[in-house]
Amino acid sequence: MPHLTSPHEATRTRVRDRLARAVLPHADTWERQGYIAPDGWRALGGHGLLELAHDGADFLHSAVFLEELGRTGYAGIRAGIGVHAYMATSYLRMFGTAEQRETLLSATCRGERIAALAISEAGAGTDLRHLLTRAEPAGDDGYRVNGQKCYVANGSQAGFYVTLVKTRETSHDRGLTGVSLLVIDADAPGVTRTAQPMTGWRSADVCRVDFDDVLVPADRLVGRRDLALMHLMKGLDFERLVAGLLAVGGVGHCLELLNRFVREHQVKDVPLASHQAVRHRVAELNSDLALIRTYAYHAAWLHSIGSLDTHTASVLKLKATELAVTAAQTCVQYHGARGYLDDATASRLYRDAMAGTIAAGASELLRDMIFETH
Ligand SMILES: Cc1cc2nc3c(=O)[nH]c(=O)nc-3n(C[C@H](O)[C@H](O)[C@H](O)COP(=O)(O)OP(=O)(O)OC[C@H]3O[C@@H](n4cnc5c(N)ncnc54)[C@H](O)[C@@H]3O)c2cc1C
Repeated sequence: MPHLTSPHEATRTRVRDRLARAVLPHADTWERQGYIAPDGWRALGGHGLLELAHDGADFLHSAVFLEELGRTGYAGIRAGIGVHAYMATSYLRMFGTAEQRETLLSATCRGERIAALAISEAGAGTDLRHLLTRAEPAGDDGYRVNGQKCYVANGSQAGFYVTLVKTRETSHDRGLTGVSLLVIDADAPGVTRTAQPMTGWRSADVCRVDFDDVLVPADRLVGRRDLALMHLMKGLDFERLVAGLLAVGGVGHCLELLNRFVREHQVKDVPLASHQAVRHRVAELNSDLALIRTYAYHAAWLHSIGSLDTHTASVLKLKATELAVTAAQTCVQYHGARGYLDDATASRLYRDAMAGTIAAGASELLRDMIFETH
């Protein structure tokens, strides 16, 4: 793989082993209960898996970790960890003050405080201009927050939410202006969270979070007031890169299962793989994965040198998550009814894959951006 050398492969072996110990024995329990257990988070922290690099040359080690996290085959778990260790905390790492980084990040690295990202609302997902959550000045210092966020991963377990709020009134046709990022503590008076169980990504702990007259100190502002759009543009490209790398690992897991199954499963006394149509279908999927995986590490390398662009991040996220759907659908089809059982792995992969093309930017939005940035 281009850009990867023997230290990266050593990281692969190490993180695969640690994920096998910290995640796989508990994964089905977390899926059933709908969240990663607190001692699971602490174990991940203890293994050093929540503090890998967000930038620079070391990001390639993170890329390997993200692929391996995807290869666990549990997209809800990978989403929870991805949001905590990368997507939500990236805003603190990139734009937070020294004090915010010191007080919040050390606890997240140990898995003692869980981070969540609260951007989407019922009427503002793809189109964030319709954001309704407001932060108004409260006294001399700080903000009073009112509003409701939806589909927040790690929602019930989070210690804090990196939250997108409107801090200045502007009209919709002026684009996404007058918005800011605030860190809001989950135990602040006026914060309530309600589970929003999803078809897939079951351990991702997706919740609605309500803010009712929540007082937030001024020092919880992340980055520039009213100018969070600038931060989001960078943060969302990073989110797409992370989502793409996770999806590449997920497709790898799915195709391992499929490659094995078509060789083993017999219909009319011959393995499925004895049919050319089956072999060619699986070969197409393996080929698509090989191309997209190479592109994923190209994108990770661009990020590591500070040159990731919206176009590359969007192409990766689009192609990796759409391949995940096609691969999972094929996996269910060739498994027959046994793959469609509620507790079948193929079934879970299919349910999970469907969320990948919506969360972190729907495929149609990505196609629009790819067209515009070409
Ligand atoms: C499992 C899961 C976890 C999530 N986790 C989080 C989280 O942790 N934090 C958070 O803030 N949000 C989270 N989200 C929300 C996610 O970011 C939004 O779902 C996403 O931005 C799309 O917004 P929407 O669902 O409101 O769909 P809408 O914006 O209402 O769009 C609906 C559909 O319209 C289509 N569409 C959109 N734009 C176009 C277009 N230009 N052309 C044609 N068709 C189009 C797409 O198919 C899209 O799915 C999560 C979502 C899911 C499914």
